[in-house]
Amino acid sequence: MKNAISLFTLFLFFTSSLLSQDFSKVIIKTEKITDELYVLFGAGGNIGVLAGDDGFVLVDDQFAPLSEKIKAALAEIGDGSISYTINTHYHYDHADGNKAYGPEGALIVAHANTRKRLMQENTITLPGRDPHIQEVYPKEAWPKVTFEKAIKLHLNGQTVRIFHPGNAHTDTDAIIYFEEANVMHTGDVFVRYGIPFIDGGNGGSVGGTIKAMNTILDIADDNTVIIPGHGQLAKKQDMLDFRDMLQDIWNQVAKAKKGGKSLEAIQEEDPTQKYQEGNMGKYVIQLIYSELGK
Ligand SMILES: [Zn+2]
Repeated sequence: MKNAISLFTLFLFFTSSLLSQDFSKVIIKTEKITDELYVLFGAGGNIGVLAGDDGFVLVDDQFAPLSEKIKAALAEIGDGSISYTINTHYHYDHADGNKAYGPEGALIVAHANTRKRLMQENTITLPGRDPHIQEVYPKEAWPKVTFEKAIKLHLNGQTVRIFHPGNAHTDTDAIIYFEEANVMHTGDVFVRYGIPFIDGGNGGSVGGTIKAMNTILDIADDNTVIIPGHGQLAKKQDMLDFRDMLQDIWNQVAKAKKGGKSLEAIQEEDPTQKYQEGNMGKYVIQLIYSELGK
């Protein structure tokens, strides 16, 4: 799971000040999945693209300062403008592009809580970092279509099923499944940089993420192409491995806590270190420990 691209993606996500990021060097790379579905890799979350006569439908939109580069990459795929942008969740490295495409007329679709969070200031606390303040978004960047549980769009020959898998990475998560193409965008509920960041301060939980993974795994089959929130394209087996990792960490923390061990003692033993070195494991242990106490 450790590779240069993923660590680079992580680095960008962890760069706490959006304004200090240098987007001039970012290259948008396009990968074709089917005749109508593509993924764009750049800075921040992966962008899913559905192309066709209804215009480009984006799943996540990275950063507003990258919009010209993103539009140049779309022009290589086909003609037309961006008609829809679907947000997988409220985090700025996935939704900042709303500020560019909303004013240009793209219809923004998201979970009701994403709209709520984009209308307010949010504090995102990554382990070992200063809290990141995500400012209130301008009105044109707010989703105009929202849902609580699920919604379907019928665009470019695809049934686009969008559903909330419960609170998982955040309390705003949406999974997007292109039914006919059998392609799924998971947002940050599933990522490929190792132990995931789960936004415990804003409704996310490890238990919820495991539960959401089980829901997604029921839909996916061995042919499903999965666009993760960060990292390269994946198959069902990769999601199984990810779910098993989280479940294993959960089970070990639960066992140790039941045996009377303190949070500090479990973090010292660190059942996450076989997966990845660093602060993220200790943070996930802390989340699980507190979730078990509920
Ligand atoms: Zn995220």
